[in-house]
Amino acid sequence: MTLQPRPGILDIKPYKPGSAAPKGAVKLSSNENALGCSPKAAEAFREAADRLHIYPDGGALRLREAIGKAEGVDPAQIVCGAGSDEILQLLGRAYLGPGDTVLQSQYGFLVYRLVAMQSGAQIVSAPESGHTTDVDAMLAAVREHRPRIVFLANPNNPTGTWIPRAQIERLHAGLPEDTLLVLDAAYGEFVDHPDYESGMGLVNHHDNIVVTRTFSKIHGLAGIRLGWAYGPAHVIDVLNRVRGPFNVNLPAIEAGIAAINDKAFVEQSKAHNARWLAFLTQQLGGLGLEVTPSVCNFVLVHFPQTAGKMAEDADRFLTSKGLVVRDVKPYGLPHALRISIGLEEDNRRVADALAEFMGS
Ligand SMILES: *Cc1c(COP(=O)(O)O)cnc(C)c1O
Repeated sequence: MTLQPRPGILDIKPYKPGSAAPKGAVKLSSNENALGCSPKAAEAFREAADRLHIYPDGGALRLREAIGKAEGVDPAQIVCGAGSDEILQLLGRAYLGPGDTVLQSQYGFLVYRLVAMQSGAQIVSAPESGHTTDVDAMLAAVREHRPRIVFLANPNNPTGTWIPRAQIERLHAGLPEDTLLVLDAAYGEFVDHPDYESGMGLVNHHDNIVVTRTFSKIHGLAGIRLGWAYGPAHVIDVLNRVRGPFNVNLPAIEAGIAAINDKAFVEQSKAHNARWLAFLTQQLGGLGLEVTPSVCNFVLVHFPQTAGKMAEDADRFLTSKGLVVRDVKPYGLPHALRISIGLEEDNRRVADALAEFMGS
């Protein structure tokens, strides 16, 4: 007899992160913040180096208080994690088991599939229309499968699209009371539309909505692994039972507090993104490429299905120019590439390279 993990574990395809950039190349494959992070966060991280022999505060209280103050919510309804990835994993650990179903939309974030499979649950995807979540399709899948968890990234990665508050409310209204709606707002800070709702405003009106947030994107702290969830007290209590006692490290807590208080850096990141998202969308669209309208810090670009002009040809061409982007085949998007917004120079290089690629 050989040692075996639980059934289903060996069916999991390990998550493949965006490719690293070789020396001198620009990494536009992981939606990292082009501006880096808040200098104050970096300083707080460095100062924490004097205390690395001390255990962190297991409850991350000062960080939760800083988040609560910035967001106008009760810190008791927040739980922090090593990235929002960990929060998603904890939700799976707590609420899913063999025989359960998880629902996502067609191009949902790949981590949702991992979370389902790690718990022995099955994942079901509802078709999207125009690379956007289709609430009617989601509701039809809810009736058919009665999922325990519905994961919805709003806006979504890798599509960059979003659905308005009224649609979220309609989706929620169609869920059984014992189904948890997880609204993943990893890119929420980038969205500037009066009809956008991250979910923060819905949590206290319902017992089965939890919102996940991250320091990896607008705050530019992907390397320290820091995220959090805001939810009803009973869900937060459950997450506190299943998390590791010191799941968020001490330098991450200190950098996170500094980052959440540096509103100027967040505004700067948002303004930079708005400007260059518009630039890339317009430039690439002008080359005859279809660009899915994005509100995030990346664009999903669709390539022709003609020899020499396919997504994989473009990927190779960009790589040869020192531009590393994301292949989205694992999402079922073999004819597209996802390109993160970079610094001005990077974005101009992407536009120039793709102009050359399309013209050649
Ligand atoms: C980047 C991203 C996250 C954040 O992951 P972290 O673990 O917090 O770095 C969560 N959800 C989506 C959809 C993302 O794209």
